[in-house]
Amino acid sequence: MLARHDVLLIADEVICGFGRLGAPFGSHLYGMEPDLVTVAKGLTSGYFPLSGAIVGEKVYCVMEDNADRIGAFSHGYTYSGHPIGAAAANAVLDIVEREDLAGRARDTGAYMQQRLRADFAQVPIVGEVRGVGMLAAIEFGGEREKKVRFDAGLKVGARISRAARDRGLIARAMPHGDILGFAPPLVTTRAEVDEMIDIAARAVRQVMDELATGR
Ligand SMILES: *Cc1c(COP(=O)(O)O)cnc(C)c1O
Repeated sequence: MLARHDVLLIADEVICGFGRLGAPFGSHLYGMEPDLVTVAKGLTSGYFPLSGAIVGEKVYCVMEDNADRIGAFSHGYTYSGHPIGAAAANAVLDIVEREDLAGRARDTGAYMQQRLRADFAQVPIVGEVRGVGMLAAIEFGGEREKKVRFDAGLKVGARISRAARDRGLIARAMPHGDILGFAPPLVTTRAEVDEMIDIAARAVRQVMDELATGR
């Protein structure tokens, strides 16, 4: 469809790239053929700041073909393409390949998704459990069937996140709703997934009890 109308497709692979969804890139998983891809996070696993925009043949050729006429396509920042970032990325990507972290994310991720759904989908204050591979979210709400949101003033998401942290689990309260986000390391084991989910379940139960008693 996009190709027929000559519309470019940009895939934001900042979080989905480098194995997190259990495939090399999210685009592989969903059969997408983007013209541009943005990358960051998993590129260096955060050991050094580095991000990038990957352009495909079609876009690259436009820059290349017009360079003689209008000059080289140029953009950058003072520290763009810093050698330390590039070295960190090369080291990380070697490990991602050598240890087949995308494959591990697929296996452990399938287990994590299944456990999250089994443990949370029926909880009264859970509206939705979603995610693929090692990326997941639990969205909380008042009346499950009707998908009613909690009053923002109750700060349900933030309270569950804090209750989890008090028990040793960092799970991010996403800013656009009562949503708890999970993006554990790709080397996480099943035992660690169990621990993560058990703590999250206790945190959810605590806040659910608080809500029931009007606290
Ligand atoms: C973290 C994240 C970003 C933010 O990238 P910046 O380089 O900080 O702007 C963008 N997109 C996705 C999907 C992300 O996960």
